[in-house]
Amino acid sequence: MAMTKRTVIVGAGIAGLGAAQRLLKAGVSDIIILEAGDRIGGRICSFPYGNGFIDYGAQWIHGEDGNPVYTIAKKHGLLRQPDCQDTILPEMSRHLWREEENDILLTAQGEQMPEEVVHGALQILDDIMRNMKNLTTDNHDFTSVGDYTHRHFVAKIDELDWSEIDKARYLAVYRSLRLVEMIDAGESQNMMDIAGWNQYHTCPGDIYVELANGFSSILQVILNDIPDGTIKLGTPVVKVQLTDGSTEPVTVTTANGAQFQAAHVIITSSLGSLKAASSTMFEPPLPPGKLRAIHRLGFSTMNKIHLQFQEPFWEKNVNGLQFIPEEGAETDLQDENQSMSEIWHKAITGFDVHPAKTGLLVGFLAGKAAEYMETLDDAVVVNACMAKIRQYLKNDTLPEPTKIICSTWHSAPYMMGSYSNIPVSASIDDPSTLAEPVPSEEEPRLMFAGEATHATFYSTSHGALLSGQREADRIIAFLSHQ
Ligand SMILES: Cc1cc2nc3c(=O)[nH]c(=O)nc-3n(C[C@H](O)[C@H](O)[C@H](O)COP(=O)(O)OP(=O)(O)OC[C@H]3O[C@@H](n4cnc5c(N)ncnc54)[C@H](O)[C@@H]3O)c2cc1C
Repeated sequence: MAMTKRTVIVGAGIAGLGAAQRLLKAGVSDIIILEAGDRIGGRICSFPYGNGFIDYGAQWIHGEDGNPVYTIAKKHGLLRQPDCQDTILPEMSRHLWREEENDILLTAQGEQMPEEVVHGALQILDDIMRNMKNLTTDNHDFTSVGDYTHRHFVAKIDELDWSEIDKARYLAVYRSLRLVEMIDAGESQNMMDIAGWNQYHTCPGDIYVELANGFSSILQVILNDIPDGTIKLGTPVVKVQLTDGSTEPVTVTTANGAQFQAAHVIITSSLGSLKAASSTMFEPPLPPGKLRAIHRLGFSTMNKIHLQFQEPFWEKNVNGLQFIPEEGAETDLQDENQSMSEIWHKAITGFDVHPAKTGLLVGFLAGKAAEYMETLDDAVVVNACMAKIRQYLKNDTLPEPTKIICSTWHSAPYMMGSYSNIPVSASIDDPSTLAEPVPSEEEPRLMFAGEATHATFYSTSHGALLSGQREADRIIAFLSHQ
């Protein structure tokens, strides 16, 4: 027998929880959240480690002004104190390069890149990105973000009256910046659409705000407004059927056969999960435009590698060891004819010193290489990481780590990747198309939230939270006109 609930929310990530909180505050209390996994949070997942915590997924609040996650953290005293170094980037950098003090940039020959070269290259790239922002139409000669930045960077370096050595150094730093940008998008800039990239909005302020007790502390604040019993863990939704003519026209079926009738359903599944299930999960099938958006938008993997050492082998004041990739590394990583086993490690951009500074390093890699890493034994990953660290630090005697913890977002059921992006094959309207209610704006029965549905903050936790609130507001507005 179907249980009656007015609103069913699929997924207890920040979008689903944010939607529930908003509905409850507006007095819409007949809600239930069905979560496939055995925990809340989705791609926000902090767990205790040593005297602190590890963030498997989201780690930083990207920006302050206009960022609702920052607002929650600030209001509830969740920020790391003192707040991390201000990493306020020139306006146009999308997120990424963390121009931290004592973040050392190393060559494969073990040399440290002088700070002024790093800053100089960053400034050139930033100017290029700023100009790219002015390309408002698709009517231009560039095939991708990567094509645009590469051609302009090389041209800029060529026109300078510098020695070949200096030019090579700037280009080396540029290679490194591109790989770091790949962490943000999840894929090479060569696959990213210029208009899509330009549509992404960076909240002003520090773009690497840290939380004292892990990103999940944000969720605890939201959870305080959600009554016990609202969330059903371990409850994957397998079918969503929309019928005509009743006040509760949506039937939601879970993997164990339970059914819930609802007036409204908000789907917050990751884009990866939707790509896998959208053709079988919905009856009638989703509109062709929405299916096209699901298919065309990108959903890529970024993984973290945590290496625990008995004690730090780096100087106390060092915040990170970043690697300048060999020439051609990015091309190799995109070349499907290359054997992934030979090249995957080229995607590791470097290692940050974990904020707890307890001998823990955190490495990052993205794209197909990040997916491939998930298939490897820990010992293989350790060997590759240590070979790289030893090479770049020019020190064969560095100790082995005592522990390795790698994230596996691609193979995680119901996640199937890390975050969305807008590749060249997609349209900048696709996130908004994904967000359109079914059957119509006037009668929103089936709604879609989650980071991939936010037109300007896609890929982020704040985009996800805002998207959940948006869909809750849609229901509240609908009910107020009943
Ligand atoms: C490694 C990594 C690092 C990141 N770093 C940052 C960062 O520093 N800052 C930042 O702002 N963002 C970051 N992000 C992105 C951020 O984590 C996400 O944008 C955000 O958490 C997405 O929230 P969501 O609610 O849209 O989706 P999710 O968190 O994916 O939640 C969706 C939920 O739906 C559930 N679900 C899916 N299908 C079903 C089904 N059929 N039935 C029932 N339940 C289902 C899933 O189990 C999941 O719990 C990072 C992500 C990753 C993976």
